[in-house]
Amino acid sequence: MRTHLGDATLHMIVDAIQNASGRITVDELVSAAAVPAQSVDRVVNELAELGFADLTGSGRHRVVEPRRRLPPPADLTGQLEDLDQRRQAVLASRIDAAREYAESTRCRRAELLAYFGETYPPPCGNCDNDQQAKAESPDRPSITGGVPVRHRLWGEGQLLSRDDHELLVHFDSVGYKHLTASALASGILHRR
Ligand SMILES: [Zn+2]
Repeated sequence: MRTHLGDATLHMIVDAIQNASGRITVDELVSAAAVPAQSVDRVVNELAELGFADLTGSGRHRVVEPRRRLPPPADLTGQLEDLDQRRQAVLASRIDAAREYAESTRCRRAELLAYFGETYPPPCGNCDNDQQAKAESPDRPSITGGVPVRHRLWGEGQLLSRDDHELLVHFDSVGYKHLTASALASGILHRR
């Protein structure tokens, strides 16, 4: 899990890039901003990811070159924090997905393949859950594969599986989400 980068550190790095008026190496940035090399690495990587800077070379000799005028430090801080939050959300969703999988009572094979957008008609008959189900209820989920959907809040995603109670959707913005089946009926989630 990433630690939070302080505003002050970020501002010092952004100021140092702007004061350099053009190209500056990561090494020079570390001295100019007087912050840990680790923080500089992180900020320049994220600036590159957001399309604000080009990074060339490798290691400490990497050269940072602002691609367009950097937004004011406060705006930039906001954008970097948004990026951070999106990453955290996706990471958290993966952990949730792994836990849901561990706790799931559905066919393991169908469930696992659903996470990759693959259709597999359960049961496989071999997994622990199928073995368990033989002795119990015949209520099986239907696996849809990837159906394009849109959520009011989370935007576009792929409906990976559904049964009477629950939907599994992968969203571009927030990763995997388990939703109640009523999300479709209420219109919060709809097919694209
Ligand atoms: Zn199975």
